[in-house]
Amino acid sequence: MSGYETLQMYIDGVWCDGSDGEYGEVINPATEEALARLPHAGTADLDRALQAAAKGFEVWRRTSPAERGKIMRKAADLMRERLESIARTLTLEEGKTIGESRAEVATSADIIDWYGQEGQRTYGRVIPPRSGDVRQIVVREPIGPVAAFTPWNFPGVTPARKIGGALGAGCSIIIKASEETPGTCVAMVRALADAGLPAGVCNLVFGVPAKISEYLIPSPIIRKVSFTGSIPVGKHLAQLAAQGMKPATMELGGHSPVIVFDDVDVEKVAQITVAGKYRNAGQVCISPTRFFVHDAVYDKFVSTFSELAKALPVGNGLDEANRMGSLANDRRMSAMDEFIGDAVDKGAKLLAGGERIGNQGFFYQPTVLGDVPDDARIMNEEPFGPVAPMQRWTTVDEMVKKANGLPYGLAAYAFTKSNQRAAEIADALESGMVGVNHLAISLPETPFGGVKESGYGKEGGVEGLDSYMISKFVTTTNA
Ligand code: NAD
Repeated sequence: MSGYETLQMYIDGVWCDGSDGEYGEVINPATEEALARLPHAGTADLDRALQAAAKGFEVWRRTSPAERGKIMRKAADLMRERLESIARTLTLEEGKTIGESRAEVATSADIIDWYGQEGQRTYGRVIPPRSGDVRQIVVREPIGPVAAFTPWNFPGVTPARKIGGALGAGCSIIIKASEETPGTCVAMVRALADAGLPAGVCNLVFGVPAKISEYLIPSPIIRKVSFTGSIPVGKHLAQLAAQGMKPATMELGGHSPVIVFDDVDVEKVAQITVAGKYRNAGQVCISPTRFFVHDAVYDKFVSTFSELAKALPVGNGLDEANRMGSLANDRRMSAMDEFIGDAVDKGAKLLAGGERIGNQGFFYQPTVLGDVPDDARIMNEEPFGPVAPMQRWTTVDEMVKKANGLPYGLAAYAFTKSNQRAAEIADALESGMVGVNHLAISLPETPFGGVKESGYGKEGGVEGLDSYMISKFVTTTNA
């Protein structure tokens, strides 16, 4: 008995399999064994989901924000009650440690809860008129049914942001969660259903990603698109959305610079960044990934970081003793081999790790590369795995130029004891989010999102709610 979630789709308030009888398989990345069969949607199922979302929107937009908030809070509380079993499902399908999964489920519940409460404060405004008999108001309305697509690396938090934002604003949603890690989203939708969410408001489908996005996005029922995933897929979906003039939120990849100044407590910064780097085995869009370390502290920082990385216990995420679990799929294993081989060929020093672990499950050693040249692929492409490339710097201008030199701009980090340097570097970095002296940049109440090719739009905070709403101007005078 694995304790894995029972997988079904949820359309118009009914748990179901696909009408074409198609299924995929979900694998446990720690053992490579099959966990469950996942039903796939056919066209008839997608049509039902679209009709349900249209109907669900009419019901939900007329449900008072206070009532919406109650249902969302109840769903969040159910997720909290079920935390242990949802976390187990998450680790079984994604591979991260059980501690990380517990934290992710707790955060996902907080996101649903926060949006349900913030949705009660979507105030409009009154604009003073130019003549006394005119009354001018701006009202905020939900934009309409949403099509959302989420990836495998955060199977709880990424759907929670989209479902929470849409429902908090009064929208309905069709979500296609990852086929590789579907169980966590199934459990979240189950909590919403059990909390009394009306039929059609939240619909969950699975299938062949391209077929589903190409069917749902052009539908006239869909008014807003939200995607988290890779830059190439994001560009494709943004084009599909643009053809229907539909607003889109795009949370795409990153390659976060980590700037270490010469005035830091090296031991402390190494501990913080090792914990951040190897969280979810580095498969995190805001993972600290390009380390720029001041020459004066480089040797000490890199050796401390490498020793801590080598000491991390790696293994099955269900074992409480492990601090890093498996990678989520085989694609990341080959990507790590290629990034490391290329960097070493170009002159980088392998300081820790560099190898696969064992021959069952997708386990990789926490890896550190020193003095990585600028032209190594890993300094230019998002690694999305447990590899930390390090470079030394001496002048701020040269370091900032490198930090800002890629098409990415999602997250950036800096470590310094100087308030002046902290302010200057936060201003200089081209990034949607900047963490100074810590890495905690993703919270329900704070805006999350990037600039440049890392995407556009925000999730989280009032900005995240805003992205599911329109402003309508109403002006009235005497008849
Ligand atoms: P991929 O580009 O094949 O897929 C990325 C995600 O998009 C997956 O969840 C996939 O199911 C979905 N997807 C793919 N084609 C789609 C389509 N036409 N319509 C709708 N959804 C579609 O890559 P991958 O091998 O799964 O991951 C590799 C890269 O993706 C990583 O290196 C990383 O850069 C990026 N990624 C980013 C995030 C993030 O949080 N921003 C999450 C996962 C992956």
